[in-house]
Amino acid sequence: MPNAIVDLRSDTVSQPTAEMRARMATAVVGDDVYGEDPTINELEAKTAAIFGKEAGLFVPSGTMGNLLAIMVHCHKRGAEALVGDLSHIFLYEQGGASHLAGVQLATLKNEPDGTFCLTELRRRIRHDDYHEPITSLVVVENTHNICGGKVIPLAFLDELANLLRQPGVGCAPIALHMDGARVFNAAAALGVSVARICRDFDSVSICLSKGLSAPVGSVLVGSQRFISQARRLRKALGGGMRQAGILAAAGLVALEEVVPLLGKDHVRTKRIANAIHNLQSPNITVDLDTVQSNILLIEIKRSQLTGSEFAERLAQVEPEELAAGVTAKDGSGIVLKASARDWAFARVVLYHQVDDEQVELAIKKLTYVIGQYDQRWPRS
Ligand SMILES: *Cc1c(COP(=O)(O)O)cnc(C)c1O
Repeated sequence: MPNAIVDLRSDTVSQPTAEMRARMATAVVGDDVYGEDPTINELEAKTAAIFGKEAGLFVPSGTMGNLLAIMVHCHKRGAEALVGDLSHIFLYEQGGASHLAGVQLATLKNEPDGTFCLTELRRRIRHDDYHEPITSLVVVENTHNICGGKVIPLAFLDELANLLRQPGVGCAPIALHMDGARVFNAAAALGVSVARICRDFDSVSICLSKGLSAPVGSVLVGSQRFISQARRLRKALGGGMRQAGILAAAGLVALEEVVPLLGKDHVRTKRIANAIHNLQSPNITVDLDTVQSNILLIEIKRSQLTGSEFAERLAQVEPEELAAGVTAKDGSGIVLKASARDWAFARVVLYHQVDDEQVELAIKKLTYVIGQYDQRWPRS
């Protein structure tokens, strides 16, 4: 019998909805490099309006959206961008800012809540010495992926914007970019609009293909001037697509249909967190207070166990667990996929297709496997 698979490695594994496929099939399209794809134009205008910005640009990936923002905001040679040391831009975009855009990335230590110290930021801004690069951009990631889906507090965003606007801070106005791959999750968690969250940001990159479930694409938003420069550079990066309204159609459905449901993913994430917390395991724990959106970090307290080993075990089905009833309704075993490395944590991420039944299966599996570890390593 095939196993039941619950895939919580990432919200990127989410699948397009039936409505997305239907709208893709009937989308009216044109050559977008000529600006003639009505569906892309609609997606760009609609996203810009939702964010309270002047214009939008459809790009193939969040990585390209972030890179374009860096290229436009840091167009002068000798520029530097300040990013969190646990940010996606610094960790997972191959250092594209340096090897493709010629921009130095400097890191600020990310706090566990995804923010960084503003006093430290103030100290790190450079502009008036021949020896130094010119700090031209600060990037905030919201929600913060590696910090566990943390929602960046509005008070921090406001304070950051105030700081950068003070006279004498930097030489030119320092731009603010939000890596808002999951900024709709932040809005759902806070109960405020994305426009409010991004009010003081010059640009925002938003992923349609994460929790929003579209198959491909991101949208970059900002001023007309910013977007027209980004549009030019998108072509240079090979991101000028033709009848890509087929893809944008799915993005429109994501905004209409999936965004309003993101709160459900958060409730389900919390349900899994609560279940792990209730086990009171000395070996595997979660910090309930810090579960804010659709990402859950499961902490491993045993030095003998790595995140990868824990994840491997969750993806295996042992004969004893079938006998113990750790199965789906039809008696098949449960394969739970989580993401992990040699970290002291594993990560699970929820999205549209993960329903209550899948959540129950995930909890069943986690409860059993954590129970096994607790038998091997009881509380001393
Ligand atoms: C996924 C992600 C991106 C962009 O990723 P792509 O795979 O290039 O679309 C950027 N930032 C964060 C925080 C992400 O999670």
